[in-house]
Amino acid sequence: MSLNVEKGNKKRVVIVGGGFGGLKLATSLHHSGLQVILIDKNNYHQFPPLIYQVASAGMEPSSISFPFRKIFQNRKDFYFRMAEVRAVFPDKKIIQTSIGKVDYDYLVFAAGATTNFYGNKHIAEEAMPMKNVAEAMGLQNAILANIERSITCANNVERQELLNVVIVGGGATGVEVAGVLSEMKHTILPHDYPDLDSSLMNIYLIEAGNRLLSAMSAESSAKAEEFLRKMGVNILLNKKVTDYRDHKVVLADGSEIATRTFIWVSGIAGVPIANMDKSFLGRGNRIKVDEYNRVSGMENVFAIGDQCIMSGDKDYPNGHPQLAQVSIQQGKLLSKNLRRLVKGKSMTPFSYKNLGSMATVGRNKAVAEFSKIKLQGFVAWVLWLVVHLRSILGVRNKVIVLLNWIWNYFNYNQSLRMIFYPKKAKEVIDREAREAVTHWGEDLLKEENCE
Ligand SMILES: Cc1cc2nc3c(=O)[nH]c(=O)nc-3n(C[C@H](O)[C@H](O)[C@H](O)COP(=O)(O)OP(=O)(O)OC[C@H]3O[C@@H](n4cnc5c(N)ncnc54)[C@H](O)[C@@H]3O)c2cc1C
Repeated sequence: MSLNVEKGNKKRVVIVGGGFGGLKLATSLHHSGLQVILIDKNNYHQFPPLIYQVASAGMEPSSISFPFRKIFQNRKDFYFRMAEVRAVFPDKKIIQTSIGKVDYDYLVFAAGATTNFYGNKHIAEEAMPMKNVAEAMGLQNAILANIERSITCANNVERQELLNVVIVGGGATGVEVAGVLSEMKHTILPHDYPDLDSSLMNIYLIEAGNRLLSAMSAESSAKAEEFLRKMGVNILLNKKVTDYRDHKVVLADGSEIATRTFIWVSGIAGVPIANMDKSFLGRGNRIKVDEYNRVSGMENVFAIGDQCIMSGDKDYPNGHPQLAQVSIQQGKLLSKNLRRLVKGKSMTPFSYKNLGSMATVGRNKAVAEFSKIKLQGFVAWVLWLVVHLRSILGVRNKVIVLLNWIWNYFNYNQSLRMIFYPKKAKEVIDREAREAVTHWGEDLLKEENCE
């Protein structure tokens, strides 16, 4: 099996990952005179900031996803391949993917980040992460199925486990999930489940640090906490989760919280490239790059966005925040730098322009910060809606999301709360098994096979 792309006489750029950074880079390389191959494990681009609305059954997954092939229709010398990247062989300028090998002149890693369980294998097996649309759909099914089961189970202990939700991680995602589930408890449960005592649903938000939204100011943290407490969310600060056993989340102080909905949104790590030596990696498993996004020690290999950590920016000694704007700005600059490289010109170093940060807590409640301005409540919430609506890809998606929001705002009640368990066709299951064996077991680990 191969990627089936003819080389031609143009230089080839292979981009791994079509998230915010990779997509910006790929679209900006239009008319660059370079052949572009975009590889992503999914056939669609996704919009993570609204994933929590999918998890809470407030938004269809398709509204925040967009197929790559549609984005690049009619683009010459561009190839999309749905595949997972496994390894890199910089000496031979080849990468290994789940569908075969491909050679490159320039390689860009833009595969983002994955959930960080900080080495706790048991929590990794038990908890539900929420990093992408697929995981959000899994979470949505679990939440709805647990509520359904709580109606029929004969045991009060089990009922309480089913109705308790524990969210670990008090960053923006944790705050947003806690807020939206609290709204679900108050506005949807009493109507959909009249025979259920909705006061039994308890939402816990656990944070190891001493405040929520630690990347924002203390003022915004305090406001978000105040909003959530008024919405009935139980916030536990300075508490570390150490395990999950017998349907109980275990804390470092020995206390336990019963739940069958254990959500883990605490921390992220760069997507690993299997054969990449640890010496190439920095904090959070992110690939170390210089100010031009070059991977130190690998010729013509770059990394952008969440997957990389850049040294040299004195304002961000621990690396830039893992945010959409960082990835987009790096993707945009790298497209210019690659054009310059091809022409034998020198590259421009990256300088991050912080456009601000925001987090929404619920209806009419958000916090937002820009260089000199801090906003809270309704104004921040409207701004949050506008910024996110503008950023969603595709006119159809923008219209659907806007209509969805308007409908939910006045009606308090959309009708997306179905439980779907997709079943893979046998042909797909068999092919995935074959790919796993062929390209992982047989030749990946034998570097000499890469020719
Ligand atoms: C729930 C959530 C909410 C967020 N909210 C905000 C927000 O409000 N504002 C903000 O600025 N940031 C937010 N972020 C962070 C933001 O989404 C990331 O910083 C941003 O997406 C990083 O862009 P990226 O291009 O580096 O990676 P991503 O956008 O994550 O894209 C990575 C791409 O690589 C693909 N991929 C992964 N592994 C492989 C592989 N092995 N082979 C091939 N392809 C692969 C993925 O399918 C994906 O398409 C949020 C993140 C999450 C998870």
